[in-house]
Amino acid sequence: MEFDTIAAISTPMGEGAIAIVRLSGDQAFSIAERLFRSVGGKKISEELSHTIHYGHIIDPKTNEVAEEVMMSIMRGPKTFTKEDVVEINCHGGLVSVNRVLQLCLKNGARIAEPGEFTKRAFLNGRIDLSQAEAVMDLIRAKTDRAMNVALGQMEGRLSKLITGLRQELIETLAQIEVNIDYPEYDDVEEMTHKMLKEKASYVKKEIEHLLQTSSQGKILREGLSTVIVGRPNVGKSSLLNSLVQENKAIVTDIPGTTRDVIEEYVNVRGVPLRLLDTAGIRETEDIVERIGVERSRQVLKEADLILLVLNYSDELTVEDENLFNVVKDMDVIIIVNKTDLPQKIDMNRVKELAGNHKLITTSLIEEKGIEELEEAIADLFFTGSIESGDMTYVSNSRHIALLDQAYTAINDVLEGIEIDTPVDIIQIDLTRTWELLGEIIGESVQDSLINQLFSQFCLGK
Ligand code: GDP
Ligand code: ZN
Repeated sequence: MEFDTIAAISTPMGEGAIAIVRLSGDQAFSIAERLFRSVGGKKISEELSHTIHYGHIIDPKTNEVAEEVMMSIMRGPKTFTKEDVVEINCHGGLVSVNRVLQLCLKNGARIAEPGEFTKRAFLNGRIDLSQAEAVMDLIRAKTDRAMNVALGQMEGRLSKLITGLRQELIETLAQIEVNIDYPEYDDVEEMTHKMLKEKASYVKKEIEHLLQTSSQGKILREGLSTVIVGRPNVGKSSLLNSLVQENKAIVTDIPGTTRDVIEEYVNVRGVPLRLLDTAGIRETEDIVERIGVERSRQVLKEADLILLVLNYSDELTVEDENLFNVVKDMDVIIIVNKTDLPQKIDMNRVKELAGNHKLITTSLIEEKGIEELEEAIADLFFTGSIESGDMTYVSNSRHIALLDQAYTAINDVLEGIEIDTPVDIIQIDLTRTWELLGEIIGESVQDSLINQLFSQFCLGK
């Protein structure tokens, strides 16, 4: 495919030590040649691919030196986009890197849209859609764990799994064709149903499994929306502050996200907490009193995690009990704060109310109990096998939606078999499952199923 040449600053904006301007496209080398003066005087076009060169970027109009740089040149197709790529490493500072970018733009490049390099890699067949999406996730990853998920996906873990499932489906479809066209058995329908049931159950189980990972995947990708509730003065703001201070706050410089909700991200042992700061959400003082039990339950339902704070040196009140009542079916951690003060709370009653929920005591003033709290948060979301790093998480909403639909379709297949639906009807649902899974990796639905079937199953007749 042929595209124009794009350019962008491909490192985070700000005070980084090095900033990179990246060029990709047919013109990348000629633009670089126009702007670059190597110390040895050699031309870019004479250099070997995949080499780095020291020199200066000059403004060809004025011959003024704009920046001292290291320039990497990479000839396609062995590049990320499969196109010619040039990376200009500047010393940083917004001004100088911008100057280099502007020079590229004035000399034939176009500013890249967000994600356009990745899009090209996809369009040029370098990566499939789920991998392209993973690159985007990688850029936005908020914790190391989220990064690993994205990395795994980029390496094609999800693609491989999906491709495997589609293979099973296509083989099954082919087999059905054979059974129908060349009935070697007395009862084709029965044989087909039996074989189908086995395959369909397998595919269903696999999709189910992928979907089970999706809640963790989504949390890693988008953060765990967290709400701190409790009566006035129990220490909610203090808790928020400790969480922000103890953990590196995550910079959320994501272009294109809506700004009407202010969010704060903190990284708690690999779990990104998204502390929402909409009106009354982050810190809900007497929320129950204000809007009633039912309504507050609705508001809090949006949250993935509730931190319910109580005062150790105060008796439990009706309000506390109401809060317990509101959050009892959610993911809650109960925090009894101010243990440095004399006890007035009835801990037995608290334990009773807490039931199976994790109960932690803290003194935020003395910085006690925060470790335990963090551990509890991590435990809540990374238990058992999920801890192991090489799992395939599905984290992308588009993938989840498609998997959901594929799950329904394959379920329809199984139900069809149960009630002895004619095979050609079942075939439709089976084909649909195959198509839906294909959409995840961006395999065009137009890809002729017939061709696939043919290549799959050469009958030689
Ligand atoms: P909020 O109204 O629930 O947000 O509570 P704040 O975080 O504003 O805290 C209310 C008061 O309790 C402040 O004066 C805090 O310094 C104090 N406080 C918070 N945590 C503790 C604690 O663990 N021990 C003691 N003694 N005081 C605390
Ligand atoms: Zn407060």
